[in-house]
Amino acid sequence: MNNQATEELMNDVIALTQAFIARPSVTPNDAGCQIMMAEAFEKLGFTNESMVFEDTTNLWSRRGTTDPVFCFAGHTDVVPAGNIDLWHTPPFEPTIKDGMLYGRGAADMKGSLAAMMVATKRFVEDHPDHHGSISYLITSDEEGPFINGTTRVIDTLEARNEKITYCIVGEPSSTHSVGDVVKNGRRGSISGELIIKGKQGHVAYPDHVKNPIHHAMPALAELSQTHWDHGNEYFPETSFQLSNIESGTGATNVVPGHLIAWFNLRYSTELNDELIVKQVENILDKHQLDYEIKWTYNGKPFITEQGSFLTAVCDAITKIVAHRPKISTAGGTSDGRFIAPTGAQVIELGPCNATIHQVNESVCCDDLIKLVDIYYACLVNVLTSQDK
Ligand SMILES: [Zn+2]
Repeated sequence: MNNQATEELMNDVIALTQAFIARPSVTPNDAGCQIMMAEAFEKLGFTNESMVFEDTTNLWSRRGTTDPVFCFAGHTDVVPAGNIDLWHTPPFEPTIKDGMLYGRGAADMKGSLAAMMVATKRFVEDHPDHHGSISYLITSDEEGPFINGTTRVIDTLEARNEKITYCIVGEPSSTHSVGDVVKNGRRGSISGELIIKGKQGHVAYPDHVKNPIHHAMPALAELSQTHWDHGNEYFPETSFQLSNIESGTGATNVVPGHLIAWFNLRYSTELNDELIVKQVENILDKHQLDYEIKWTYNGKPFITEQGSFLTAVCDAITKIVAHRPKISTAGGTSDGRFIAPTGAQVIELGPCNATIHQVNESVCCDDLIKLVDIYYACLVNVLTSQDK
């Protein structure tokens, strides 16, 4: 795509979303999406920095040199299409039907990227001398192992003391209509792989075996029934979920030698990794299990409390859709977890999430048009008021 074409697309959020969807950027492949973005930003006076870490392409773009730094964050990668036969239209051929735009990434989150860009172009044209800076932090590994994406861009920025003040992550936060929900934080996530050891033997000789399934059951029951906390103003109660249990040799007359259980906790800001590890191990010790446990730390919880930024975003939404959004911390993790620890205020705001990661992913065309207006109003509220 040449510059002229990109420039024209910057006026049309639907066409720009379609141009993104047509690039099959399955994690961690960016498929040229960021080049398209960088071209558009350059014309608007941004300085582009492509940051490539191993298999992952990232883009940091910034317009302006002063604080506050307003950042749009997101990802160009998408999850695989899944079973192509179940798609009514080819996943990488954007198709509009009955006011909905279909294609992989339509809602998560190529529509948001397009809306941010169109809003930014309009804002820069209307307010060329805005306060502070506008920036973009874009990765191509959000749906992947999140090793070489946002977290490494943040490390690079931190190393040179470049800070994001306010951040909107374009993840699909809405439920029924665009702007009905914004996420002002996310729960933390920690996973465990628990190996409970026993002694294998013949089922007919119970004295000669130590059955790991029998030993595991009461402990797993207690873990699944424990109240870890009561949550707080922003977070629901912490939840523990078993996702998988594996044991047995395949034979019905053999007691297996071990059991493996996989579990995950989604936790509030009332807890932290260390407290959870300690509490889980206390329960396992109480049941006198012989065990090993491998922990995976997926992300700490973060929260953007009530304040001027959350108000500015909610006001922007109310202005466009005539209702105030619900503020929520529900759902999975996002790259916001890497940005928030730097001190940035992070809010997730994007289209409806009903079809994300599914076959026939879609986004409502009217929602995208509203999303442009919402992002535009956010920029106005944050970067043009006299006090900021
Ligand atoms: Zn996403």
